[in-house]
Amino acid sequence: MKHINVSLFVPHLGCPNSCIFCNQKTISGKCGTLTAEEIISAAETAAKTPHDINNSEIAFFGGSFTAIEREKMIFFLQTAKPYIGTYFGGIRISTRPDCINEEILGILKSYGVTAIELGAQSMCADVLIKNERGHTPGDTENAARLIKEYGFSLGLQMMTGLYGSDEEKDRYTAEEFIRLKPDTVRIYPTVVLENTKLEQLYKENIYQPPRLFDSVKLCAELLMRFHENGIKVIRLGLHSGGNVEEGFVAGVYHPAFRELCEGEIYKKIIEEKIAFCEDTDIRVLVASGEISKANGHKGVNREYFRKKGKNIKVLGDSTLGQYNVIII
Ligand code: SF4
Repeated sequence: MKHINVSLFVPHLGCPNSCIFCNQKTISGKCGTLTAEEIISAAETAAKTPHDINNSEIAFFGGSFTAIEREKMIFFLQTAKPYIGTYFGGIRISTRPDCINEEILGILKSYGVTAIELGAQSMCADVLIKNERGHTPGDTENAARLIKEYGFSLGLQMMTGLYGSDEEKDRYTAEEFIRLKPDTVRIYPTVVLENTKLEQLYKENIYQPPRLFDSVKLCAELLMRFHENGIKVIRLGLHSGGNVEEGFVAGVYHPAFRELCEGEIYKKIIEEKIAFCEDTDIRVLVASGEISKANGHKGVNREYFRKKGKNIKVLGDSTLGQYNVIII
């Protein structure tokens, strides 16, 4: 049965910070507060659709949920709670690493929160300072440990290509995440948005976001590292919609970004496997649901190998797992 996520945005509400890349109004496509009517209406609409209760959630995204004024935060949770256990398995929230402590976790637990995502963004202190994040890698480490101790599902979010970062630092962040053993990860290549300090740095030629080609290569590598360590990457690249297009200035924002990265992973695996193969017509077996990924976005991998004198035909095999490739 279907998995449903009721996504409710709490844009910039309660966030004590002003990170140089953030324009929450642009990201969430909405500014202002969230009302009880909006929460109830979204939950009831979703409740009418047949779905798997245990795998469905009410999610508060877009700001720093636990930094919201206490009364208001509890009001949001109280409004959502009656739907937990009846229509949804739990509540998911996202927040900053320095806005987690034992008291807050106790409150979240009592209202049915089951998953907490931390906007860690980088595990390099210098990158966090340059981006005016206002927290340290140590804050992320402590918050992650507490969240796990309290039995919540832990999610970590990272950004690649931040001001002051580079590929080595982004790899380091991913490895630090792996060490913290999150249940889920989100990876967002940095996008320059209108009305941010990052836009200013970009216009002054002080900051250049990485190119799409380089971001795909790096994020494919990170995706594979998380996969090898049994960590689910639940998002790769910003969602389309939500007015990002309107506020977009520069950076990697591609509607099929994940597909591009997964295609890159298959290209690399196939290339290694056929390195010593002299045949020109090659049949490639992958998991049944992975055929289009192995062919690459719009068939780009087939074309890549064709230019190298190899005609590849990708076939599905239901016994294979993700990223398993057999050449026949
Ligand atoms: S902590 Fe999050 S919501 Fe607050 S300014 Fe930074 S990115 Fe925006």
